[in-house]
Amino acid sequence: MPELRQNIATKEWVIIASERADRPEEFVQPPRPLTEDQPEWEADCPFCPGNEELDLEVMRIPERGPWQVRVVCNKYPALQREGERIRTFNGVHRQISGVGYHEVLVEAPQHNTCPALESAAEVTLTLEVFKIRGREIAQDSRIEQIVYFKNHGERAGTSLAHPHTQLIALPIVPYSIRARIEEARRYFDDTGYCVFCHMLADELKDDARIVAKSKRFVAFIPYAALSPFHMWILPRRHESTFLNVTAHELADLGQLLRQVLRKLYVGLRDPDYNYIIRSAPVRDPGVEYLHWYLTIIPRVTRSAGFELGSGMFINTALPEVSAAFLHSVDKAGS
Ligand SMILES: [Zn+2]
Ligand SMILES: [Zn+2]
Repeated sequence: MPELRQNIATKEWVIIASERADRPEEFVQPPRPLTEDQPEWEADCPFCPGNEELDLEVMRIPERGPWQVRVVCNKYPALQREGERIRTFNGVHRQISGVGYHEVLVEAPQHNTCPALESAAEVTLTLEVFKIRGREIAQDSRIEQIVYFKNHGERAGTSLAHPHTQLIALPIVPYSIRARIEEARRYFDDTGYCVFCHMLADELKDDARIVAKSKRFVAFIPYAALSPFHMWILPRRHESTFLNVTAHELADLGQLLRQVLRKLYVGLRDPDYNYIIRSAPVRDPGVEYLHWYLTIIPRVTRSAGFELGSGMFINTALPEVSAAFLHSVDKAGS
């Protein structure tokens, strides 16, 4: 019989279609050019060296000579940097002026790379730059929430192949984030514990869904994963905000993130994916009950009407089987 599972931290339900579950091999992407098969430089790519639009640049590393990483303002930003945050409530119409930040982090000068193909140091540098920009933006009193994310591939929402990540800093805390905060606070009030710390301890004890571990982080497929190979990477140290991550943790995470993305790249043939860093709101960090983490969502299936209508997902892969598959992929290759 299929089973419904609930994520204790987010309270989200998923139908695990265990009887008609697909085997991991069925999610291997069909033959097509991989990231590494693309040209190393493209004449019409705005992120390739030589094509830089300097008026959009926020920072680069290193400051002189050939760059390794650049941060630029999104050319078509979702929010505007200048202006006042003005709230207008008029009957049922509620509005806040669209101030905020929408920045793109160009991860490497090479056009045909991605974290799975980069060195651990390069992946770490991306995360370091996220932290640098996040800490600067957090000083802006108009900002309430920073969302850090990567879209890899068209099914993940990008048409630009050049490796890049993005951040959007919002003048509000979105509803779905507020709902998670409320659940975490309730769990803390009821038990005195951070729900994420509890979940991590339980996953480590159970050892059925771990994909990879390092000294400071654990990558696993949650018990109630919403989609095939949907992964969480949790810091072992309780900390609510990514902005307080230490240099040691960043180096450790860079290595582990590269390792698990490499498992996806090798095991599933460079699938499209999103990754997101979930961190506490800037003004209300919920230090005791929130726990930041990174989540990876491979886009190996398409969601549709049922998901939109219910907010629930149907996962056609058993989390335990997916984790065992990824655990065994590319063990020696990292
Ligand atoms: Zn490029
Ligand atoms: Zn915790």
